[in-house]
Amino acid sequence: MNSFSQKGIQAPKEWFTGTVWLNMAVKPDEGYNVNIGTVTFEPKARTNWHSHTSGQILFVIEGIGYYQEIGKPIQLIQKGDVVKIPKNVKHWHGASHNNSMRHIAIISDVDKDKTEWYEPVNDADYNSFKTPVYEVENRLSTKAIMNHEELWPNYISKIKETDPDLIEIFENFAFDDVISHHEMDVKLRTILILASTIGSQSLTEYRMFANAALNVGVSPVEIKEVLYQAVPYVGISKVIDFITVTNEVFLENNINLPLESQAVTNPNNRLEKGLGIQKNIFGNRIDDMYKNSPKDLLHIQEFLSANCFGDYVTRNGLDAKTREMVTLSFLIALGGTENQIKGHIQGNANVGNSRQDLINLITQLLPYVGYPRTLNAIACLNEILPYKN
Ligand code: MN
Repeated sequence: MNSFSQKGIQAPKEWFTGTVWLNMAVKPDEGYNVNIGTVTFEPKARTNWHSHTSGQILFVIEGIGYYQEIGKPIQLIQKGDVVKIPKNVKHWHGASHNNSMRHIAIISDVDKDKTEWYEPVNDADYNSFKTPVYEVENRLSTKAIMNHEELWPNYISKIKETDPDLIEIFENFAFDDVISHHEMDVKLRTILILASTIGSQSLTEYRMFANAALNVGVSPVEIKEVLYQAVPYVGISKVIDFITVTNEVFLENNINLPLESQAVTNPNNRLEKGLGIQKNIFGNRIDDMYKNSPKDLLHIQEFLSANCFGDYVTRNGLDAKTREMVTLSFLIALGGTENQIKGHIQGNANVGNSRQDLINLITQLLPYVGYPRTLNAIACLNEILPYKN
């Protein structure tokens, strides 16, 4: 019996860069028609570019490494990950910059398999991948690390030092389970979470997500529009501090203020234009609201049309579908707004957001707003846009 846990023999220099060890546990000539071995890469060591006519399966059993298919970005891999390499696809695998990596490599159908070897992975390409400094301890899943890294490159939370258990639970949940549930565009996801932090009144989380938004390419205008849209729905008392923090974040990122105006109405046409967009989103219900309003409250209906819709909702900078989802995110995070949540679920449907889109929104907000608000939002959704088989 031989042990697969030993490093084995040094791999041939012609096909590998750096120090690599091969331990062939099941060899092609043993009659199983499969080739299984462990490969151990010292930090920075890697295979040359190569391809397998039968494909290859890697089980990462130790450490942290990289895998890349031709034409695709380098991918982080770590203990516990399985890499399924398609047939005849040029690729390489190896250790990360600072950690060794060991994987089990399986090639089936070895009778027919042929491995083609190409050029080494040059240092410039290898170094183009920034190792997440976000520490990998096999407590966080690779997806959680990469999703976190996408939002905040090279950022290490201080909470990681003081509360490692919480970070493990929260980040595996929020940055893997929740994000993996469906792949929402990262910009939209960030915008909606950002909106929810205003509703939740969390300046700390808002600042994090304002930075994340800029990191993933959300424009300063879009961020400001989220803020301005919050004013009529959340109230200036709850928004003012967020404007201050946004301006600080913008200054840190050399973004000049004020931004270009996104206003499309003026004092003369705001009522008419606001009423127009209000009816576009909510339909005939608006006529009924005016008709059914007591005379001494008619001014509130006019404020809604001219101010909420005319001054804010008409603005450029966010498309109608995104703006309506942003509004719903405020309402869900605020809590106690079930009537308005229902209205805006209908509003979302009217501008073209589906039940599935809204489930995705509610799912992405869950780690930030908690279960009670999530379940309340779901109850509203099921009432307005019921599940259909
Ligand atoms: Mn390979």
